[in-house]
Amino acid sequence: MTGTEKTFISQLKNHAGQTVTLAGWLYNSRSSGKLQFLIIRDGTGLCQCVLEKGSVPDALFESLRRLGQESSLTVTGTVRPDDRSVGGFELALTDAQIIHAAEGYPITPKSHGVDFLLRHRHLHLRSQRQWSIAKIRHTLIDAVRTFFNDNGFTLIDTPIFTAMAGEDRVSLFQLDYFGQPANLTQTGQLHLECAAMSLGKVYCFGPTFRAEKSKTRRHLTEFWMVEPEVAFIDLDGLLELAESFVAFIVARVLRTNRPELETLGADIPSLEKITPPFHRLTYTQAADLLTGDKTKQFLALQLEDLKTRKRQIETRIADLEARQQTPLKQWKKDKIAAELIDLRTDLAETDAKIENNPKHARLAAEFHWGKDLGGSDETIISQMHEKPVFVTHYPKDAKAFYMKTDRDNDKVVLNFDLLAPAGFGEIIGGSVREDDYDRLLAQIAHKGLDKNDYTWYLDLRKYGSVPHGGFGLGIERTIAWITGEKHIRQCIAFPRMMDKIYI
Ligand code: ATP
Ligand code: MN
Repeated sequence: MTGTEKTFISQLKNHAGQTVTLAGWLYNSRSSGKLQFLIIRDGTGLCQCVLEKGSVPDALFESLRRLGQESSLTVTGTVRPDDRSVGGFELALTDAQIIHAAEGYPITPKSHGVDFLLRHRHLHLRSQRQWSIAKIRHTLIDAVRTFFNDNGFTLIDTPIFTAMAGEDRVSLFQLDYFGQPANLTQTGQLHLECAAMSLGKVYCFGPTFRAEKSKTRRHLTEFWMVEPEVAFIDLDGLLELAESFVAFIVARVLRTNRPELETLGADIPSLEKITPPFHRLTYTQAADLLTGDKTKQFLALQLEDLKTRKRQIETRIADLEARQQTPLKQWKKDKIAAELIDLRTDLAETDAKIENNPKHARLAAEFHWGKDLGGSDETIISQMHEKPVFVTHYPKDAKAFYMKTDRDNDKVVLNFDLLAPAGFGEIIGGSVREDDYDRLLAQIAHKGLDKNDYTWYLDLRKYGSVPHGGFGLGIERTIAWITGEKHIRQCIAFPRMMDKIYI
């Protein structure tokens, strides 16, 4: 490759009419006699390369024709504008060099099952979907940092080894720290509160560990969380901070990653509506909503829609199966097979939703004041709203020890969850922190925690205690919501779940 200057696919627009060299991998190819179409990816995008017989030596033409998916190569050719091409340009090839010929790449353009793809994550990262998600994740994390940095927050790196529980004891990953019990951090919040008393506005951003045994689409055992913490703030202040933050990061992704969002089939018009103010409901209003007629009617309508959808999928499957019985070209057969795999997945999901609908309806109807909102309750509330919804003032007994009791109603705490719209559910949990020494001590005892573990945390309430609070936003959940991915395991390169640590 020495001597040739390499161009990136994302830069082709600056090279129209010129001869350039790309270095990348063969994403896909097809040939029809005297013409070959090679789709090359180079990390910055995809480019269709057209090769005419006679434009390179016959031996090279033949080797390229037989070159396997994901082989690495360099290609040289002239940049031509082409409207039908993915990036708007194609390359008319004049030369190519095969760097490494791959054979039998296991992930073909046909559909594969989820488990297969997870076991092949080391290779699946090269797919258009995983590539697009990585790009969006990168933008999102950059936007998160920009937002806080530009709003007067100071970054604090909180520890990953901790001595005490930040949330519940059940989801602690315990380890042996030189003979002493210790845990992996569940939240940076408690340490961040100390820093907020020094710097006023702080945030931490790092990996977070929770031994989640339930296998839901919203839980990983290792995830990334950003947590701001602010001195002298009340609940309204926190809600305003959270909504301007979420609106900012969504707008940044919309501006930077529109093509990737399109590739993933994200609901762009809905994302464009994510502007302040968001909806606000108290927990008590949410409980009334769940048990009321409006929810009953909403779920009944939803069931009808699901049944209609099921019939449509079944008709399409029958149609494709009938076409499989007729003589077809191989590429057409492959296309039908791939669509059938997707349709059957869709059908199974629709069936599951039809089965779950009455269960969710029953859970909602039976909801009683005092319970924490469950996953299905959150889903229902978030399906009934187009914008994110804040649910505030939860029952004290359902929540963590550090949340501040509402002085006007000591049954509830000054907290909130932010539910992303369209059924996605919680992406943020936050609260005002208890700043009164005696009340905090009583809560620690009430929750059965050892006060000796919290001496330094209690000290913050002894020396210049101030009203303060903050929240935590889960990065993978936010990406799943924005991209429309059903499961958050797709939103981190190497997901960790109870039964997944292979790659
Ligand atoms: P949930 O009730 O959904 O299990 P939580 O109430 O335990 O979440 P918080 O302690 O409020 O969550 O954490 C703040 C945020 O961190 C959540 O809103 C979510 O975005 C994210 N989060 C929490 N647990 C997980 C997890 N296991 N995997 C991925 N993200 C998580
Ligand atoms: Mn929460």
